[in-house]
Order: sequence, then C-alpha cells, then structure tokens
Amino acid sequence: MVTMYYEKDVNRAALEGKTIAVIGYGSQGHSQAQNLRDSGFNVIIGLRKGGSWNQAEEDGFTVYSVAEATAQADVVQILLPDELQRKVYEEEIEPNLKDGAALFFSHGFNIHYGQIQPPANVDVVMVAPKGPGHLVRRVYVEGFGVPGLIAIEQNATGKAMEIGLAYASGVGATRAGVIETTFREETETDLFGEQAVLCGGTSELVKAGFETLVEAGYKPEIAYFECLHELKLIVDLMYEGGLDYMRYSISDTAEYGDYSSGNRIINDDTKVEMKKILGEIQDGTFARNFILENQSGRAGFTARRRLEKEHQLETVGKQLREMMAWIKK
Ligand code: NDP
Ligand code: MG
Ligand code: MG
Repeated sequence: MVTMYYEKDVNRAALEGKTIAVIGYGSQGHSQAQNLRDSGFNVIIGLRKGGSWNQAEEDGFTVYSVAEATAQADVVQILLPDELQRKVYEEEIEPNLKDGAALFFSHGFNIHYGQIQPPANVDVVMVAPKGPGHLVRRVYVEGFGVPGLIAIEQNATGKAMEIGLAYASGVGATRAGVIETTFREETETDLFGEQAVLCGGTSELVKAGFETLVEAGYKPEIAYFECLHELKLIVDLMYEGGLDYMRYSISDTAEYGDYSSGNRIINDDTKVEMKKILGEIQDGTFARNFILENQSGRAGFTARRRLEKEHQLETVGKQLREMMAWIKK
C-alpha cells in the first residue's frame, strides 16, 4: 500500500524561522519559491548573473550567488537543469553547505545515478510536484495544489521527513496529497514515463499518424487537426475520468475502432521494446548516454532538435495555431 500525506500530517514548525535557498529560478524554481513565500516561509534565491536573476528580483526575491545562498540556508532546493547539477553542486554548493542542512531535489537523477554524493552530515530529501512549474504556481494561487512525491535518501538530523512534509505543504502539494516513494522509484518511473509514453511515445505516435495521412494524399492541415490538435480533447477526458469516461464520451463508432485497431498499433512488440527501454534505465545505460552527450557538447541532441523542428507537422501546425486566438503564445 502507498503511504499518502496530507495537511494534517504537516508540522510547519519544522521550517519556521529557517532559510530556504531555492537554487534556480526556471520552471520549478519560480513556482516553488513563490508558493513557499506565500505560505509564509523565508525564501532566498541562488543563481548566476543575467537570465532569470533579473526576473527573480522583479518578483521581489533577494538573489545571491549559488555559493552565498547555500551558505545561509537550512534547506537548499536544487532546481537547476539535471545535466548541470553535478558541476554547480561540486563547485558552489557542497563547499558551502551548513552542518545539518537539508539538500532537496525535485527529481532523483543525480542522486540515484551517483552524480552527486552528499556528505553524511546533511539530510537528502526529494519533494517533487507532479506537474510542470507553471501549473504548480497557478493551481496554488487558485487555492489548491498539484499532488507530489516525497522521498528520503539520507536522514542525518532525524527530522528529514518532517522538514520534507513542511516543504511539500509550502509548495501546496499536501493540499492534494503527497505519495511516499524512493529516489530510485521516482527516477526510473519518471524517465520511463517520459520516454515510452508521455513525450517519446506520444510524439512518435502523432508524427506517424500525420505522415500516414499526408502520404496518402490528405491535406496536412486536416491531418494536423486529426492527429495532434484533437489529442488534447481526448487526453482531457482521460484525465477527468480515465479511459472509461473517454470511451463514454466518444461515439460508438470511435469506441468500436478503438477496440479493433488500438492493439494493432501498440502490440506485443511494443511492450517488448518498452521492457528494453526500462532495462536501459534500470542498468544506467540511458543515464550514461545522456551524461556523455552533455559532456561532449550535445552534437547529436542539437542536430535532432533542429530536424524535429523542420518536420511538416510543425510548420503546418505553426500556421494553424496563428488562427487560434485562444492559444497562448
Ligand atoms: P529550468 O531549465 O526551467 O530552470 C533552470 C534554472 O537554473 C534557471 O533559473 C537557470 O538560470 C538556472 N541555472 C542554469 N545554470 C545555472 C548555473 N550554472 N548557476 C546558477 N543557475 C543556473 O529547470 P526546470 O525547472 O525544468 O528543472 C529543475 C529541476 O526540476 C530538474 O531536476 C527537473 O528534473 C525537475 N523537475 C522539473 C519539472 C518541470 O516542470 N520542468 C517537473 C518536475 C521536476 P538562467 O536563467 O541563468 O539560465
Ligand atoms: Mg522528468
Ligand atoms: Mg474524429
């Protein structure tokens, strides 16, 4: 059974009077910092000059270098891009960590794959809101919270869970519910989900459907609507009530086609491949490849990003979205 935590399990005193340094002010950084501040906690920001530094100041935060912010902090939440965390940690965070401080993460990659090896005198905690940063902020402002995960890797002070739950309440997560997990489980499931289903799997499904229609002579604009635009409407239904509610809402024609064709697209071979992908996440192959790609200047990553942007689906979609005034730029 999973252990879930809610507001009633929180002892705010664990963080009161303490200083939380949020390192990074991007998607997660800005939302977690603002939510924590609005929850009454003392938040400072650690950054490098330029970029989001100015935004953090405009939003009313006191901003320091990463080293200075760390030196003052009881809780250091690392919200830098995963591939940069090791370098910044080694150069600016570890040398300045207070004895008995808590090192926080929102994704387990660097701890699980041994890229960051914290000293024994600090707590190591993960609080990960299960949603993109902008949603984490918006939902909090509306009075609710995005659900979250909590994990304790190292409990030097004996208070790691208490501090973690107070932090989770500060970002709004305990309003919805926080599930206890481990760094390993969060890291491996997060990577698998984004590769096989959410990002990799879905992008390729959309592209293959679009290409099939266009290659058969149908208009790219129609193919875009059918294979990408309408996906949101279907996913919204799944989100509200699972597959059953989606199938209740669509026509019987669509439901019949769902059952007769879906498992010809995602079939036993697909699952064999999914298991291989999971294996490469579990044995560190994916992590090693990603780390090496970053260390060698990202040649393959950059080329692929450019190629993907040039796909007809993207150019057609860009024109069509110009007509959709309700979609924010
Ligand atoms: P972003 O890329 O949005 O933000 C990165 C921030 O780090 C920016 O403020 C950037 O500042 C700063 N930064 C980059 N390099 C340095 C440096 N050398 N020194 C100081 N500051 C630096 O990151 P995300 O919010 O997407 O990701 C942060 C963490 O949260 C990751 O561990 C990620 O896995 C996790 N996470 C992210 C989610 C999301 O919604 N995006 C969801 C759940 C977890 P600058 O403007 O100067 O570049
Ligand atoms: Mg992820
Ligand atoms: Mg249809």
